[in-house]
Amino acid sequence: MAWKSILSLSRGHFTSHSIYTLRANAPAFRDIPPVWSQRRICWERYAKPIYEFCREMVPMRQNIHQNIPISTTFVLGAGFSKCADLPLQAEFSSLLLSEEFNTDIDKVITQAMKEFLRDVFDWHEGRELPSFEDIFTCIDLSAGTGHHLGIKYTPKVLRAIRRMAIYRIFSVLDRKFSTSEDINKLLRSFCTSVNPASRCSFVVLNWDIVLEKHLRQLDPAVTIDYCCPCYDWNNPDTPMRPVGIPVCKMHGSSNWVYCDNCKSLFFDLNEKLSFHTKAGLIKSDFRLFDEKFTDRQFDAALEISPEKRECKFCRNMVSSHIATFSYRKSFRTPAYPSIWYHAEKLLSDSDRWVFIGYSLPEADYELKHLLKVAQLRMSHRKSTRKKKIVVVGKGDVSTRHKFERFYGSETIKFYDGGLPEYVSKMCEGGNLPDSV
Ligand SMILES: [Zn+2]
Repeated sequence: MAWKSILSLSRGHFTSHSIYTLRANAPAFRDIPPVWSQRRICWERYAKPIYEFCREMVPMRQNIHQNIPISTTFVLGAGFSKCADLPLQAEFSSLLLSEEFNTDIDKVITQAMKEFLRDVFDWHEGRELPSFEDIFTCIDLSAGTGHHLGIKYTPKVLRAIRRMAIYRIFSVLDRKFSTSEDINKLLRSFCTSVNPASRCSFVVLNWDIVLEKHLRQLDPAVTIDYCCPCYDWNNPDTPMRPVGIPVCKMHGSSNWVYCDNCKSLFFDLNEKLSFHTKAGLIKSDFRLFDEKFTDRQFDAALEISPEKRECKFCRNMVSSHIATFSYRKSFRTPAYPSIWYHAEKLLSDSDRWVFIGYSLPEADYELKHLLKVAQLRMSHRKSTRKKKIVVVGKGDVSTRHKFERFYGSETIKFYDGGLPEYVSKMCEGGNLPDSV
């Protein structure tokens, strides 16, 4: 027990109690000074051997995963993906109807979306688009209750528009990506497979796979625990919950597909599975908007054989698995309760929360409630340390106010220079920069 608790402490953060335990139980460390004032200087002489000694005392690596509390949870918003050149939601507008999407299928999607925006929001070429929240909320609330959105847009048509819009958003995400050295530095410092001294987990609000791509680049053998029952698309016989870095994708992910028949969820760490299997695109949707669009034309334009879009178990057609921007996010499948349960637990067990590129938007009221519950649920215990909250952003005043009003101004440390500033501070002297 003692070894595990010492091991769980981050590099250079040994307490006097840890030192006492070592002096009492490990002959090799009886000469450690009881008061450790020059912590950094002593690292090579004491802390490193102690750390390695304690690791030896914990017999199985698997036990490390299961028993040692995770110390840091990162909450990643759109600003995190922006570091890898992905567009923010506000920048999506100009890309969504871009003419660079010019396959036969893309042309029908663009036409259908333009018509919908004109009819419902009185949108015209060159004007700014309505927000995604407004678009998806109107679609979801009407289609979900079996109602029209005007005489032309029946629930059936609205669901088709929704599938096409999601596919288009994935297309935009797929075109933009570049590796971020700041993200690499962050992961190298914190992630278990690269740095076994640190324990961390991730709560991700984005659909994209920027985090997964960077983790794979740093360690091609990395395993990710999506905290819900799911299967590897390329190897469906593997276990449903691999031991790995916990990543809770609260609104689903573009590298997931779902089978509505046998309720299996699949992931692929290599690519945006949903986009590449053209998940969610259905022949009959296209004829709603272009009567001349034949089945043969659709199959040819899809450029993927029907078998590659089938569930690995029951051969049903798979669909994408994301919750959209709307205020009525549809958490209809078994994955979401599991993901949200684990996210709350990981956050509650962590000593430190680091928000990166997340602005605490009003639409995420369910997530805000989860954050508050996780913050408070063990706070009455004397043994519970107060959460350290770090907000890494671009110095947006309204975001700062939102965090201060939600957590209190004394609790939070802000890094207004974004991820580059946070990472560079973190690398200075090898210490974590977030002591509040
Ligand atoms: Zn199935």
